[in-house]
Amino acid sequence: MNPWEVVIGIETHAQLSTRSKIFSGSPTAFGAPPNTQANAVDIALPGVLPVLNKGAVECAIRFGLAVSATIASRSVFARKNYFYPDLPKGYQISQYESPVVVGGQLAITIGETEKVVRLTRAHLEEDAGKSLHEDLGRDFAGMSGIDLNRAGTPLLEIVSEPDLRSAAEAVAYARALHALLRWIGVCDGNMQEGSFRCDANVSVRRAGQAELGTRREIKNLNSFRFLQQAIDYEVQWQIATLEDGGRIEQATVLFDPASGETRTMRSKEDAHDYRYFPDPDLLPLVIDPEWVAAIRARMPELPVARRDRLIADYGLSAYDAGVLTSALEIANYFEDSVAVAGKANAKTCANWVMGELAG
Ligand code: ADP
Ligand code: MG
Repeated sequence: MNPWEVVIGIETHAQLSTRSKIFSGSPTAFGAPPNTQANAVDIALPGVLPVLNKGAVECAIRFGLAVSATIASRSVFARKNYFYPDLPKGYQISQYESPVVVGGQLAITIGETEKVVRLTRAHLEEDAGKSLHEDLGRDFAGMSGIDLNRAGTPLLEIVSEPDLRSAAEAVAYARALHALLRWIGVCDGNMQEGSFRCDANVSVRRAGQAELGTRREIKNLNSFRFLQQAIDYEVQWQIATLEDGGRIEQATVLFDPASGETRTMRSKEDAHDYRYFPDPDLLPLVIDPEWVAAIRARMPELPVARRDRLIADYGLSAYDAGVLTSALEIANYFEDSVAVAGKANAKTCANWVMGELAG
């Protein structure tokens, strides 16, 4: 028996597919020239007032419904205060004590095994700007640049309970979450552009031990492969450290894809370091149950339900139905092709979509 048990909880930042920012009318489009899409509200020049984007709230509600969570009838935006060059306003607006989405769960599949991962919460917040250290052009060689275009972009931060027990489970969770967000149309899922990024909190404990071990948080993993590699490295490092008689300090670490290693970025800050307080410029977010009901009525059939229906209606294997429901477009394409070819040819359609078409 393996003497060590791995424990992982994941925090995901999903960029919401709104056209404008969470508290201002400036556009969120990716790839514009630096500093052309941040207005006075996004950088909090004196005297401005943020106005909440209703579309971002609707995205959060859609997500909450998709994971069977509670939609809070009242939630609060707070200021999280910290200094960073890409955050000239000196604070980030984020929900803290009262998030808009509470609880919920996500089913994942690892090989033949299904597992339900509990979610803690999902809250709305704004993104910060970006520091650029490379490729700034000849005039800026050796310097760092600040691009504030991303400042104020709406994010949904989704926090899981520490229910994951391996890198493989963590990747299955991230993939399922990524697919669900795209399926319900709230996030484009573009990982190169940073629309979906994960922080993995990792600890180990002796098999049979009740308390959780001390965790280290690996920041900003923007590919499933990096998530896997970073956790694999971190787990063996923590076990080796403990077996050598060392102890794990709570810390925030970065994964370096070139070396395949994690290294400490800073010792972990506590919530009180940020001096959270309710943003005096924003009213509490009050959500009318009728609005939630209207959004619920427009929700698509969700991936798990669709998968089960494909199995029941067309006699597909669980594996095939899983592949066909990995994205809404694929599921629709499959059912459209069955509508043409006839139900008797469903298996042939499935093979064609998963083989020729996918290829
Ligand atoms: P923060 O990172 O902002 O301090 P939390 O303390 O709520 O927030 O934890 C964030 C994430 O860390 C959650 O996904 C949670 O499941 C996970 N987590 C908490 N404790 C542990 C632990 N001992 N080992 C692994 N993951 C953990
Ligand atoms: Mg964290």
